Amino acid sequence: MGPPGAGKGTQARRLAGPGEICQISTGDLLRAAQAEGSELGRQAETYMKAGELVPDDVILDLVDEALERSECAGGAVFDGFPRTVEQAGGLDDLLEERGEEIGVVVAIEVPEVEIVARLSGRRICKNCGKMYHLRFDPPREEGRCDACGGDLYQRPDDRPETVQRRLAVYREETRPVLDWYRRDGGPGVTPIDGDRPIDEVELEIRRRLDATGTGS
Ligand code: AMP
Repeated sequence: MGPPGAGKGTQARRLAGPGEICQISTGDLLRAAQAEGSELGRQAETYMKAGELVPDDVILDLVDEALERSECAGGAVFDGFPRTVEQAGGLDDLLEERGEEIGVVVAIEVPEVEIVARLSGRRICKNCGKMYHLRFDPPREEGRCDACGGDLYQRPDDRPETVQRRLAVYREETRPVLDWYRRDGGPGVTPIDGDRPIDEVELEIRRRLDATGTGS
């Protein structure tokens, strides 16, 4: 969990991997549906461009399907999901049907000024998905991926107007999910300071997961 630009995707990708757990990123699934030109992708595009949330039932169907993937049999790290209290309730139902439950809820915390700086400079490879930052982690050649030579692009929802809306949506819709997880009998929330180098954040997350017996 965490606001846009907190580093959820970066950290989820590091935690997931062959022989470990799978990554379920609803944002990536929606972008893949758009790239395929599917009906779902077209429906989602309007919401995403505006920085609004895609309807809960669409998201829960995507997660239901993703949980069936064989590489998710050993567990999953959710990234960018759940974003509403309704989605969190829906996730509990999906897990219960499978005899599973939430292990740990990690909340990556980053100040808003830092988020705006991070998102405005973020660039992504069209081909392999590798992420760069114009200031903090620029590619060797402008506009080109170091790893595969693919073109770099800016996510349309990383433009400043949309970033402000995404932050407001986070405050209004997603922060209440954290309170919900903190309720009596809930899984609780593990806060992580995300305003640090990526490796340090990863180490801290792994240390906290190990301490709860969830780490691999
Ligand atoms: P992300 O890649 O996680 O930043 O998501 C990009 C955009 O996809 C969001 O601003 C939403 O429009 C949409 N989206 C991703 N995940 C969800 C979700 N769990 N619920 C609703 N909308 C989502």
